[in-house]
Amino acid sequence: MKRQKATIDLLLKKARSYLPVESDFSLVEKSYKLVSELHFGEKRLSGDDYVDHLLETAYILAEINADLSTLCAGLLHDMLECNLMTYEELEESFGSEIASLVKGVTTINKLNVEGDNEAVIANHRKILVGISEDVRVIIVKLADRLHNMRTLFAIPLNKQKEKAKETIDILIPIAHRLGMSSIKSELEDLSLRYYKPEVYFDIVEKLNATKLQRDNSVKEMCEVITNILTSHNIKHKIKGRSKSIYSIYKKMAKGKKFSEIYDLYAMRVFVDSEQDCYQVLGIIHSKFKPMPKRFKDYVAMPKTNMYQSLHTTVFGSDSHLFEIQIRTYEMDKIAENGIASHWSYKEKGSVTANLQNAMEQKLNLFKSVMELKDQNDSELLDSMKESILKESIYVFTPKGDVIELSQGSTPIDFAYRVHSSVGDTMIGAIVNDCIVSLDYELKDNDIIRINTNKNSTPSREWINMAKSSQTKNKIKSYFNKIDKEEYNKIGLDLIQKEVKKRKISYSDFFTNENVDKILTETKCKSLEELYINVGNNKLSTNAIVNIIDKVTDTKEELILKKIDNTTFKETIVKDDIIVLGIDNIKINVASCCKPIPGDKIIGYITKGNGITVHRMSCPNVDDLDNRFIDVYWNEVTTKKYPTQILVHSQDSKNILLDIIAKTSKSDVTIVSINTINTNDNYMYEITVSVSNKELLEKFMLDLKNIKSIIDVNRVIK
Ligand code: MN
Repeated sequence: MKRQKATIDLLLKKARSYLPVESDFSLVEKSYKLVSELHFGEKRLSGDDYVDHLLETAYILAEINADLSTLCAGLLHDMLECNLMTYEELEESFGSEIASLVKGVTTINKLNVEGDNEAVIANHRKILVGISEDVRVIIVKLADRLHNMRTLFAIPLNKQKEKAKETIDILIPIAHRLGMSSIKSELEDLSLRYYKPEVYFDIVEKLNATKLQRDNSVKEMCEVITNILTSHNIKHKIKGRSKSIYSIYKKMAKGKKFSEIYDLYAMRVFVDSEQDCYQVLGIIHSKFKPMPKRFKDYVAMPKTNMYQSLHTTVFGSDSHLFEIQIRTYEMDKIAENGIASHWSYKEKGSVTANLQNAMEQKLNLFKSVMELKDQNDSELLDSMKESILKESIYVFTPKGDVIELSQGSTPIDFAYRVHSSVGDTMIGAIVNDCIVSLDYELKDNDIIRINTNKNSTPSREWINMAKSSQTKNKIKSYFNKIDKEEYNKIGLDLIQKEVKKRKISYSDFFTNENVDKILTETKCKSLEELYINVGNNKLSTNAIVNIIDKVTDTKEELILKKIDNTTFKETIVKDDIIVLGIDNIKINVASCCKPIPGDKIIGYITKGNGITVHRMSCPNVDDLDNRFIDVYWNEVTTKKYPTQILVHSQDSKNILLDIIAKTSKSDVTIVSINTINTNDNYMYEITVSVSNKELLEKFMLDLKNIKSIIDVNRVIK
C-alpha cells in the first residue's frame, strides 16, 4: 500500500483539523523552512530528500493529534544531533518548550541500547523512559522510529536486522505500555518483516491465499450482526478487522497452526456508551454460541495501559469462529493511541500547562507500572505503597539540617538516610541529649546525633528495627556483600579441594581454556560468580570438575537415577486395617503423615471417599471433630507401606551410598530420595516402603549411627 507523501501543506492541513484555531501555526512553517534550508540537497539512502523524513515524522505525530510543540519537535528532532544548531539558538528561535523536547530526543538517541540479555534490555527500556521527563519526547522518538522502519529497506541488510531487533526489544514494549497500539502494531509488522523475513512472508502468503473467502465470511457476519443490533435499536458501527501479521506470528510461535488461529476472523463493534457495550454483548451471545473462556471484560477492568473493550469469540453462522471486540468510540481512541489520546484542547486557559500536567501524571504512572513489571519485586511494591501511604516526620541533624522520615522511623533509618557509611558504622544514637536504643521511635523535631566507630559493622537485627524499606535494603545489601565475600572464599576452597582430591594440579586445571569452558557450561559470568554459587550450594564442585575431568556418573548419581525410575505401586489397605463394626468400606492411608503398621492411628470419615487413616500424632487431626472413628491395625498385616523420613547430615560425601547400604541389611526399600539444598547442611527427604514401625525404627537407628548423620526424623506434611 502506497502512502501519500507528506508535504508541509498536508501537515498544516492536518494540524488545523484538530488544533485550536488560535494556535500559532507559523511555528510549524518556521520549523519546516529552517530544516529544508539546512538540509537542502541532502538525500537519504532511500533516495528521498532528507527533509521528507522530518515531514513524515511530524505527520505521524499529527495523525495522533499531537500538540503544536510536539509537531515542531518532530520537524526539528535532529537539529541538535546533527549539530546544525546549538540548544541556545534553538531556544531563542522556538522557545524553551520545543527546544527541550528536541534536546530530550537527542539525549535518548545517544543511548547505546544494544544488548542481548533480557535484564540489560529491560534496563534500557527503563532508562529510556526514566530520562524522558516529558512523555512527548518518547512519542517523538516513536514517530521518528516508525518512519525509519517504513524506509528500512534502504539500509544494509545487517543493519536492518539490528534496527528491527532494537525496535522489538525496546520501542515496541514502550509503545505497548503507553497504549499506543496503532503505532505499536505497525512497528511490529515492520520489525518482523526485517527481523524474520521468511516467517513474515510465509504468513503474508497464507493470508493472501485465504483472503477472499475470509473477507466474504466477515462481511456476511457483519451484516447479520448489524441487522440484529438495528432491530434492537442500538446505534452502532461495525467493521471487519484484519489481525496483524505480528500477532499471528506470536500465536504460531506458541505452537499453534495457521489454521487454528481463529482470530483471523475478527470484527469490531463501536457504540456510544459503556452500557451499550454490554447490551451488544448480550445480544450477540444470545444469537451466537460463545466459545467458553474466551470472554474478557476489559471495560470493567481496563488493562494497565488503559485499554478498554469487551472481547468475545463466537461460533458464526457459517461455523467459523469470530473474535468480536465491542467498545465505545472513546475507548477506541484510547485503544489506538493510548497516552497520545490525552492531548486535550478543550480546557480554557493554559492548555499547555494542563496537558503537561496530565501527561506528567500519566508518565509517572507508566514509569511505576513499568518498573513493577520489569522487576516483579515485592520490595519495590512495598516501597511504592510506603511512599503513597507515608506520613512524614521532620527531624534534625545536630547541625540543624532537616530530614524527612516516615512515621515510625528509628535512629537506624536516620543514620542510613544521612549516609550508608554512617549507618554501617553506627554504634549508638543520642536523641535530644539522651542515649536511646536503636529501635527508639523518632518524633517530630527530635535532634539526633549518631555515634560511629569505623571498625564497627551493622547487625542483622537492624533489618527488623528499621522502618523504611530503603533502609532495610541498604542493610541487606551490606550483608549480601559480606555473604558474597564469604561464599566466594568457601567456593574457591571447595573447588580446590575437589581438584586436589582428583589428583589434578591446580595450574593444570585452571587454564584459561578450562575456565572459559566451565563458565560457559555453568552460565556464570565470572569466576567470582562461580565460587559464590559453589559457596552457597547452588552448584556442586563435582559437576564443575566433571566439566574438565570427565568421569562417568558417580555411584551416587547412578543410585539416584535408578531410584527415580522405580515407581511405587499404590498399596491396598484392605484387611490390614480394621474399622470396628464396618465391613467393606474404602480405606485410604493419609499422605500427610503416611502411617505404617505399629503407628497409633485414627480414621477420618471423608465426604464420599471412605475413611482416611492418619497417625494419631498428625497435626491435621483435630480431635474435636466428631467425624473421627476408631481404627486398628490388624494383628498380622500383609503389605508394605510408604512413609517419609528426613535425614539431616553434615556432609554429602557418600552419604547416599551409606544410606542405601543400610537398607540391604533391613527389610526397608527406598522409594525416592529428594535432596533439599540448605546453606550449611544437607537434607534428604527419603520415602521408604516398610512393613511395620519396628523395622522402620531400627532402620532409623542404623542411619543415626552413620558418622556424618546428625538427625533422622519421620515427616508429617
Ligand atoms: Mn530521525
